[in-house]
Amino acid sequence: MFWKRKKNKSTEFKCAKCGQVHSEWPALAFSSPANYHNLSDDEKSEIGKLDTDFCEIHYEDQIDRFIRVTLTQKINDACETLEYGLWVSLSEKSYSDYKSNFDNENHETGYFGWLCSNISEYGNTSSIPCDVMTKSGNDRPEIFPHEDFDHPFVRDYYDGINKKEAEKRINEMIKNMK
Ligand SMILES: [Zn+2]
Repeated sequence: MFWKRKKNKSTEFKCAKCGQVHSEWPALAFSSPANYHNLSDDEKSEIGKLDTDFCEIHYEDQIDRFIRVTLTQKINDACETLEYGLWVSLSEKSYSDYKSNFDNENHETGYFGWLCSNISEYGNTSSIPCDVMTKSGNDRPEIFPHEDFDHPFVRDYYDGINKKEAEKRINEMIKNMK
């Protein structure tokens, strides 16, 4: 994980809920899907392809395709939200559609994707089914885990977490960067 500052955006914002100025929290972002991260260095260069928004793994019998997305975690006792930079796998058809419309600012559609990032607080969060919604203006797509999928990460996504837990996750990320 690495510290990601949003480009051209101030780190403070005036809150629409309470009118106060809050500092923006850093996004908890993964630079590659777990499937790629777990490959050996040789495998990465032989069968992997990775850039900022796309990743492919070319196995002998299949190609796995991944895109970078965002997820917004609601905080119950704070106005801030916790932003995640995550990866999902898409079908060949969805991946091609997303790729060919990558520079199209008016492309709004939805895909089905499997989460391919492990959020350490939950152990294994790979293979959670998600709706992947593209956004106009070329912001990264946002994902919504399927609410009926029984997993602590999905429950917390819909129920919200508290500020203390969010700060713990941010501090954990900063510690891991050192
Ligand atoms: Zn506020």
